[in-house]
Amino acid sequence: MRERGFMITQVHFILTYMCTLECEHCFVCGSPAAEGTFTPGQIARVLDQAMQIGTVDTVYFEGGEPFLFYPVLLEGIRMARDRGLSVGIVSNGYFATSDENARCFLGPIKELGITDFSVSDDIFHYENRQENAARRATETAQKMGLPTLVLALDPGGSGPDAIADVREGKKGVIMEGGIMFRGRAAAKLSGNANLHDWHQFTSCPYEDLVNPTRLHVDAYGNLQICQGICMGNVWEKPLDALVGEYSPKDHPICGPLVTGGPARLAEVLGYTPPAEGVADACHLCWLARKASRGKFPGVLEPAQVYCDK
Ligand code: SF4
Repeated sequence: MRERGFMITQVHFILTYMCTLECEHCFVCGSPAAEGTFTPGQIARVLDQAMQIGTVDTVYFEGGEPFLFYPVLLEGIRMARDRGLSVGIVSNGYFATSDENARCFLGPIKELGITDFSVSDDIFHYENRQENAARRATETAQKMGLPTLVLALDPGGSGPDAIADVREGKKGVIMEGGIMFRGRAAAKLSGNANLHDWHQFTSCPYEDLVNPTRLHVDAYGNLQICQGICMGNVWEKPLDALVGEYSPKDHPICGPLVTGGPARLAEVLGYTPPAEGVADACHLCWLARKASRGKFPGVLEPAQVYCDK
């Protein structure tokens, strides 16, 4: 095991960027047309690389919607379990068109053994709050004894009417609640947020960029510290080496973020934020990075996260 100041315990596979839905708040701009899906062979390569780190004990399969590539998902879980890793899955539960179908999809997964089945169920995913596929998937999973968690974005005052108005392009609708304005949320929802002076965003509120414990990897090999900020590419250099070489202060994007947050990043990148303000720290961070993508190939990847593809 290499000497380093931080310990990576989780590797999250973005199994695919493809999704059944196209939510306005999606960090990775998932959609039915999105490209970038792992093969079983690629998963095996990354798992072997992850084992070399010596501290990884858990992997997640997420997306996009990982159940879209069900045989690949099952094979990925099996390979991870064979290596002694705990496995979690994040899904929107679309497959639970009935209790019977939910059991069909979840039965083999229960047999392989997972420690977390997280289901996205909020107003952006499903406007029908009484009955929807995510709820059915959650209830069936619970009945089957799977460890289940509901991931629900608190929409605050942004109820179904507000979201319908935004979808119709109405002006003056304010989005509230726990939205983080990255990815498609930055592109589509920030115009409906309360805006703030960008100078105040002097730290990253969500990610520990100095001592990361979790990394995301996609089928293109992008090893992401936060969505769209890469440590390197696992198809070019093994995960273990990338983690060993990571120096937050020397990273062209994480360095400024660590010293002065998105405000410092914007200054360093020479980005002029919108005069009317930004929705939150992530919005400023995403805008500054998106404007500078051409200067940092291999770092500000993939295009999907910047809604460029
Ligand atoms: S400020 Fe930037 S690095 Fe921090 S969580 Fe938001 S998008 Fe990620």
